[in-house]
Amino acid sequence: MPDLSVNQSCSCPCGQSTFTVSGVAISRFLCHCQICQSIYKQPFADITTFWSGSVSLPEEHSIQFNRYRLPPALRRGTCATCDAPVVGLLSLAPFVQLAFVPSKNFSAPAALPSAGAHIFYHRRVCDVHDSLRKVNGYWPSELAVTKMVMGSLFR
Ligand SMILES: [Zn+2]
Ligand SMILES: [Zn+2]
Repeated sequence: MPDLSVNQSCSCPCGQSTFTVSGVAISRFLCHCQICQSIYKQPFADITTFWSGSVSLPEEHSIQFNRYRLPPALRRGTCATCDAPVVGLLSLAPFVQLAFVPSKNFSAPAALPSAGAHIFYHRRVCDVHDSLRKVNGYWPSELAVTKMVMGSLFR
């Protein structure tokens, strides 16, 4: 079993929004949904998830949290200066939140676990040729993420 614990400083591309992540990575996936495409300005987003308690934001930060249509429980935090995604917080239940951190925001992305799957692949703007699982459809994609989260609970 690989060691999935992470202790890294993170930052948006412009360096204005900084935070630290210290905890066990739950999963990593590549999301091809249209919202990710528009806010990441890339064909897909590379995201590593943690329990929100693993993420420490500085007391004074300039991260703006917004809700988009999907998924409704997700607050996506973007940098007020460069507009790039910083961290997203997804409420699963009261006091239970997942943090979605763009993998490129880590100071040492190579130390992160490797991605488990492509999700929302039906929304892809280009085919990806790798050996990872490709999950098509909204609910199958949500389910794939849920399974990765549940799997981490029993690891
Ligand atoms: Zn997405
Ligand atoms: Zn920034």
